[in-house]
Amino acid sequence: MADDTQKNELIEAFKPYDYFCHAMIDSFVLVEPTGKVVKCNQLFGVLVRKKTKQILKTEKLDDVLTFKIGGKIVPVADLISHEHPTRIDEVHGDTENQKNLNLILGVFPFITEGKKLGVFLLIRDVTAETNLQNKYTVKATQSITDKLTGLYNRQHFEQYLPAILDQMVGEGEDYSISVLMSDIDQFKKINDTYGHPAGDYILTTVAKVIKDTCRKTDVVCRYGGEEFLVILPGADLHDSVIVAEKLREALAANKFVFGENTIPVTLSLGAAQIKVGMEKAEDAIARADLALYHSKENGRNRVSANDDGKIV
Ligand code: GH3
Ligand code: MG
Ligand code: MG
Repeated sequence: MADDTQKNELIEAFKPYDYFCHAMIDSFVLVEPTGKVVKCNQLFGVLVRKKTKQILKTEKLDDVLTFKIGGKIVPVADLISHEHPTRIDEVHGDTENQKNLNLILGVFPFITEGKKLGVFLLIRDVTAETNLQNKYTVKATQSITDKLTGLYNRQHFEQYLPAILDQMVGEGEDYSISVLMSDIDQFKKINDTYGHPAGDYILTTVAKVIKDTCRKTDVVCRYGGEEFLVILPGADLHDSVIVAEKLREALAANKFVFGENTIPVTLSLGAAQIKVGMEKAEDAIARADLALYHSKENGRNRVSANDDGKIV
């Protein structure tokens, strides 16, 4: 009865830990090198929705709980092959009743005098927490995202920019930061001529062009109907005018085709460098807005900058 000897050796080696395992708040199984479960707690029974007796009767742990990492099935034999205690996060588990449980595994090999007696698996079920967190993340993302364009909305911007400025002041950082206010030219006419769906298509495409033209570290928001605001960390007024000009050119060069129509679209922009520690975010936005107004007044499809109150 070689099998029984091995099983007994494993149970014997586990004895000193048995006492602690009575108060374990996670599921556990003690597994022979063959993959057969020789011990488990009630919590494990709850996890796989089986009685302990049934579990101990099955040939392999895989038959009651299948592990997957990165979408790939990991047979219990792989876990048994570990030589050292290991923690594995982001494991998925399938049971007869539930698919895709979110699990964290602790793998503790039992090795005596070089001989692998088996493995103790600690299984934490974090499915409920993960789902809750995912739900929260989706909700939180939705609340700061503009539905039409997928850009950040104004609400996000109003929290984000003052927070960044406070942080810069607090940490005594002296890098530059600028904002660009932009507005699609004659957008009302576009809506009136080609219809609202065409207008929506243009808004979505303009958002994409702006996002693609800016750096990853720039923050692009839909500030209002056809107004977009870009935060440019690290940019002084000169840099921000260069970015604004790049955006203006990218928009003018983009071909907007909706149905049968090719629709000419241009963008006017206003730039302002934020006087960090000396003005509020909204003051800088107001200055960028004044520059934008100047671009509109002077024929649209152009960039103006607010240099400390002077429009250039
Ligand atoms: P200007 O060059 O001076 O900026 O003129 P404009 O026509 O772009 O400016 P105005 O503020 O008169 O018009 C903005 C238009 O934007 C009016 C509004 O119906 C339209 N708009 C705002 N939000 C949306 C939207 O989500 N979808 C569509 N299709 N149109 C929108
Ligand atoms: Mg407009
Ligand atoms: Mg407008």
